[in-house]
Amino acid sequence: MPPNSYVSTPAYDSYDVVIIGGAMMGAATAWFLTEQADFDGRILVIDRDPTYEKCSTGHTNSCIRQQFSSALNVRISQFGADFIQNLRQYMGGDARVPHLKIQNYGYMYLADTDAGADALRASHKVQIAEGAETRLLTPDQIAAEYPFYALDDIKLGSINTKDEGYWDYMAVFDWWRRSARERGVEFLAGEVVAINHAGGKVDSVTLGSGTRIACGQLVNASGPRAARTAAMAGIQLPVEPRKRYTWTFSAAQPLDRELPLTVDPSGVHVRQDSKDTYMAGAHSHIDPAVDPDDFEMDHSIWQDHVWPAIATRIPQFEAIKVLREWAGHYAMNTLDHNAITGPHPELTNFLFLNGFSGHGLQQAPAMGRGTAEWLVHGSYRTLDLTPFHFDRIAAGEPYIETAII
Ligand SMILES: Cc1cc2nc3c(=O)[nH]c(=O)nc-3n(C[C@H](O)[C@H](O)[C@H](O)COP(=O)(O)OP(=O)(O)OC[C@H]3O[C@@H](n4cnc5c(N)ncnc54)[C@H](O)[C@@H]3O)c2cc1C
Repeated sequence: MPPNSYVSTPAYDSYDVVIIGGAMMGAATAWFLTEQADFDGRILVIDRDPTYEKCSTGHTNSCIRQQFSSALNVRISQFGADFIQNLRQYMGGDARVPHLKIQNYGYMYLADTDAGADALRASHKVQIAEGAETRLLTPDQIAAEYPFYALDDIKLGSINTKDEGYWDYMAVFDWWRRSARERGVEFLAGEVVAINHAGGKVDSVTLGSGTRIACGQLVNASGPRAARTAAMAGIQLPVEPRKRYTWTFSAAQPLDRELPLTVDPSGVHVRQDSKDTYMAGAHSHIDPAVDPDDFEMDHSIWQDHVWPAIATRIPQFEAIKVLREWAGHYAMNTLDHNAITGPHPELTNFLFLNGFSGHGLQQAPAMGRGTAEWLVHGSYRTLDLTPFHFDRIAAGEPYIETAII
């Protein structure tokens, strides 16, 4: 059987842990569960789309950053960077596992207002306290290092070129799935259409085929469909599919040095892609919730918003040619754009792994590890993820993260 293939029939009718969604978060959780010395239960991962063509993971831009405003998000990404760069070691020294690097061009946040500059200063303090190497730059300092930017309107910039930039998520994703399968995790092709629960416990899920599978604990790792999955258990979850557009392009005059992932005050971001190509991302001003099957492009966004914004910031990008474009979905947590993890307070064997908005890929190592710890011990053994628990959602108390892209 190919290392990444899904079976169509489960081997058992009962599992200790069932995970709905086998993309980045589901695969991370399954693999980290197999790492737990105190756990030897049966694990089943179920995915309705084993091609991953419609999930967030399949449309990602695959970058990691340390520049967050909350210390917990910085620590989560620090573990992410460590995991990526020591993948083979984490996989027990398996010689088949590649050595990965982060392409450290950094994220360049640009502020064009005093309030924006103050926010960068406040986040900088948090990041430095956590050991990140973020630097605040005046416009003159930015121009000295990156002469291609037009900076007339800019008050302050913030950049960190350690553990920030592109990484090969596919290698990590592949190895989580491959290793998990080798350790006995089953990956099943199928759609969960019902979650059967009574007396404060989930007892089973029902697939579209009618098959019923019993579970000890259930993890909702269903990305932009997370609210639909939660609704099957009678839970209201503020997670919506929001469209995010990506374009890659070449420039008539390529830049003479690597372009950091530049977070422009216009809301557009643009970065180096391959040696001579670039990648831009944006969303519509209105940003409505969309159907999870809607991947239609809106060409006016490029023409009217993205291209003008990047050509204004980087005048060399006036002559560019679009090479590829696609639309994907953030699983947007509309309360605070942050992760939702841990158990439901009443349905206690139903766990959330949702709402990662635009930073879930880099969080997958820490979130998978933490969820596995909770499943086995009912507590966290490494990073405390309780600030992300569902309780804050129920109480309507946001856990604020201001560095949202
Ligand atoms: C354009 C774009 C750019 C991004 N860039 C970055 C970035 O640079 N850095 C970063 O850290 N993050 C980034 N993200 C976010 C990141 O990609 C996501 O947070 C992450 O991939 C989420 O993974 P997931 O496993 O939670 O969800 P998904 O990848 O969406 O997977 C959910 C899975 O659940 C399955 N599923 C759903 N419902 C059911 C059901 N009822 N039964 C069975 N299976 C079901 C789906 O088929 C799917 O495979 C980006 C996202 C987008 C869209």
